[in-house]
Amino acid sequence: MIDTSADFLAQENEHAAHNYHPLEVVVSHGEGAWVTGVDGRRYLDCLAAYSAVNFGHGHPALIRAAKDQLDRITLTSRAFHNDQLGPFVTALARLAGKDMVLPMNTGAEAVESGIKVARAWGYRVKGVQPNKAMIIVADGNFHGRTTTLISFSNDEEARADFGPYTPGFVSVPYGDAAAIEAAIDENTVAVLIEPIQGEAGIVVPPADYLPAVREITTRKNVLFIADEIQSGLGRTGATFQCDNAGVVPDLYLLGKALGGGILPVSAVVGNADVLGVLKPGQHGSTFGGNPLAAAVGLAVVELLETGEMQERARVLGERLQSGLRSLIGHGVLEVRGVGLWAGVDIDPALATGRAVCEALAERGVLVKDTHGSTIRFAPPIVASDDDIDFAVEQLKAVLAELPA
Ligand SMILES: *Cc1c(COP(=O)(O)O)cnc(C)c1O
Repeated sequence: MIDTSADFLAQENEHAAHNYHPLEVVVSHGEGAWVTGVDGRRYLDCLAAYSAVNFGHGHPALIRAAKDQLDRITLTSRAFHNDQLGPFVTALARLAGKDMVLPMNTGAEAVESGIKVARAWGYRVKGVQPNKAMIIVADGNFHGRTTTLISFSNDEEARADFGPYTPGFVSVPYGDAAAIEAAIDENTVAVLIEPIQGEAGIVVPPADYLPAVREITTRKNVLFIADEIQSGLGRTGATFQCDNAGVVPDLYLLGKALGGGILPVSAVVGNADVLGVLKPGQHGSTFGGNPLAAAVGLAVVELLETGEMQERARVLGERLQSGLRSLIGHGVLEVRGVGLWAGVDIDPALATGRAVCEALAERGVLVKDTHGSTIRFAPPIVASDDDIDFAVEQLKAVLAELPA
């Protein structure tokens, strides 16, 4: 009989490809901000599946939408219409203040789709010479794991031995709008950036960066593509991090939380003058826009329409950020973040990020390290004030226990 954590770990270790290095916690249930292990222990989920579980595990409205749809129809392909896609794309376009949605599945697919749209727009609308289109990206980016997306990553682990790499990208320092302007030439079709770099360690650019990117791209007739796959849909206390910066990109790339923590749902959202370049047969996905995804996506949009989630993330975020900042000088070197999303740099002289994550798991808090000594906190927005205080207290206790 398979029923202990050790058994499940052994099975995964033997038969699942080793492309991850998970903490040794085997989760079997989740409710709201908390998950339960097969050993019966409860953990506060302060990663929330990299923001895919923004609204908590098993959110009643999202589970209901999924269950209702499971009983009706789950997949039609886009060869036919289904009665869920129309309401979903209408609601999502309205939420984003745009008029068109390209539905896909994973985040990486949304980014790939945005790249294809930008290139086609470049050739068909801007008049770029065939096969010359160039897209500007930022150092430290994370946009997904496909061969094209890792081609313009600077993360050697993500790139090494996966070449040859896709051409057509130039990378400039993140947070430096002048570097973007200097890199633009007649072949530039788009600037693709994360409004906050998540995987890089919650790197928040200077306040004038996104407005400057918007001004430059508008003036130079270049598309501004905001990868809000992790920063968007409530996490930062706004529908989009671009809202916090007062800018509207040409294309939003959405994913993660759009699937309500239930299934992969992603989208490119923009206006018809850009997204309208796609004609039948030029792009697609068997699963993109499927009725189950659309039903869940619509329920997610409805959760965001009232603004309550965004407000909750903002208020709870202030509590999280100030709690974490109180640990600076006590084993924490720096805290970065916006809303309910924080990157905490642990003093590498004291411990690795991994060791702190393991000690936190022992104390009932799940987080994930990135780049050695940074820990990211992104609890579900449905967490309570007490949950946030608990997470901060446990980190404080872990740091206090480290040998000086
Ligand atoms: C997670 C993420 C992606 C990729 O999404 P997947 O669903 O894992 O393919 C792309 N961009 C950003 C900013 C992300 O955080």
